[in-house]
Amino acid sequence: AANPGTSPIARLYEGACVAGRPRSVAERLRRLDQRGERPMRLLILGGTSEARELAAQLIEAGVDVTSSLAGRVARPRLPVGAVRIGGFGGVEGLRGALDQFDAVVDATHPFARGISANAAAACAQSGHPLLRLERPGWPADPSWAYVDTHDDAAKVAADLGERPLITVGRQELARFVPALAEHQVLARVVDRPEIELPEPWALLTSRGPYRLEGELALMREHGTDVLITKDSGGTYTWPKMAAAAELGVAVVVVRRPAGADGVRTVGDVAEAAAWVRGLG
Ligand code: NAP
Repeated sequence: AANPGTSPIARLYEGACVAGRPRSVAERLRRLDQRGERPMRLLILGGTSEARELAAQLIEAGVDVTSSLAGRVARPRLPVGAVRIGGFGGVEGLRGALDQFDAVVDATHPFARGISANAAAACAQSGHPLLRLERPGWPADPSWAYVDTHDDAAKVAADLGERPLITVGRQELARFVPALAEHQVLARVVDRPEIELPEPWALLTSRGPYRLEGELALMREHGTDVLITKDSGGTYTWPKMAAAAELGVAVVVVRRPAGADGVRTVGDVAEAAAWVRGLG
């Protein structure tokens, strides 16, 4: 029996699950729309520029969007619309939270694989439609050294230069200490790391997007001879790659970890917005 405290659409989901004959989301939403009940409630797992753009577009289109952030950075860039901050508590917690939503777009960063795996598992259990929005990686460049892990990036960079610029984020910095403790590292992060940094290291706290002129100036000033980056893709952090190319700085790129299997994936915001509108 339906829980009298849940919303009409939650009861419809329950009914569909109990009957074992899930109706299409489009059909369920059309019925609600005909009754004038309410717009679709979408959960966007965010923390990226694409997630913010998607929230803005869909709110404009009348979708009831809630964006979720992990709460990693002290002053996050907030999307428009409703925002919740903090972990859900694993697959179970996320699954519970899904009662409040009709569909999910996982627009988290390509390296945030934990939350993507949780979203895939929770949505598979609950039957919620899930779309992965993942910006493509940068086109391969034969002059870059590719590695699979941050530990390997540290070792490779140690051989390539004396003055590495590390731009992989605060959470990964500790992995660079063993191989680069004696190097003149410049570590650029959004928020200060909790670990103590080796004596020769310098820390720069700043947040993109960056421009080519600024990246050139930074690398010249530091005397960067090797740049370490994740394959984040997109345009926000591209200027450092262009600056490295212009200055002849070696580049070490950490490849993306594998994503969740079987999740429908699109590469840009317009496609994701079209998918959501197609649900309704
Ligand atoms: P992660 O390793 O995949 O996630 C670890 C845990 O953090 C998750 O299990 C979840 O906790 C919580 N979490 C992550 N993203 C969340 C979200 N959007 N909303 C609510 N909870 C979330 O993630 P991460 O690599 O630490 O990245 C954290 C966030 O920063 C992501 O949202 C990502 O989009 C953003 N970001 C990451 C990177 C990067 O390089 N990794 C770069 C830029 C932005 P529970 O299990 O408790 O639910």
